[in-house]
Amino acid sequence: MIRPIMINAAMEDVEMNILKEHLGNLTKVEDKICTFYEGCLDGYPVILCSTSEGLINAAVSTSVGINKYNPIAVIVQGVAGGHGFDIHKSDIIISSDVININSVKTSIRKIGEGVDTTKWEHLNFKHGRKELVPVKADETLIKIAQQVGENYTKKNVILGRIGSGDIWNREADRILMFNNKFGTLCEDMESFAVLQVAEKYDIPSISIRIISNNEVNSEIYDRNLGYDCQRFVIDFVKEYIKGISK
Ligand code: SAH
Repeated sequence: MIRPIMINAAMEDVEMNILKEHLGNLTKVEDKICTFYEGCLDGYPVILCSTSEGLINAAVSTSVGINKYNPIAVIVQGVAGGHGFDIHKSDIIISSDVININSVKTSIRKIGEGVDTTKWEHLNFKHGRKELVPVKADETLIKIAQQVGENYTKKNVILGRIGSGDIWNREADRILMFNNKFGTLCEDMESFAVLQVAEKYDIPSISIRIISNNEVNSEIYDRNLGYDCQRFVIDFVKEYIKGISK
């Protein structure tokens, strides 16, 4: 059986509408965890996985999708907040790897000693780990995304690290801290979960994001930029299909 490509999105109305239109003739499959749409692109089977926002939704949906469809690759895509001064709205970020930026251990503080987020230690919760261990995106998928990026005219296409967490982050200093300390280019609420689950199943995965807001440059959130990300992802998937059909 041909293994389909799975494409995830958190916000169906702005991150999946164009994909749904483009694939046409979809079969909607409701699951308790998420909604799937089974379709085809250039004659190749594609599954759209509508996950809702956040790491837990993204993780469980990806897991259900992988078990149900055994995809050949998993692509998570959609809008993200920019980290750093050189990142602007409409830039496309291709994940080299992803980290969970909200995986933290606090220092010990007694009653009345307050909260100091600057002392928080960022680490993966695995015995003996003292750092944030990234999950890498698949090299072949990265190359295809970069190649497709050469034809993207709206802004820049940049390869680099994506941070994910269950926080809608609008604090410029916190954003810059992640950029300086971990080299993140942008932030979302799903990518880490998706790549982590896909890695456990040994399935190649990648995150492709469009910058919809950047607090450090006072660039206000525009969720509709999710449309352009989907158009990029359609070109990317078409290119990927050419390679697997050979
Ligand atoms: N209710 C709003 C926001 C949804 S949560 C809406 O419907 O538009 C934000 C979503 O966009 C998440 O899925 C996340 O992946 C992405 N995102 C975009 N900018 C972000 C930022 N600055 N911080 C965290 N997530 C961001």
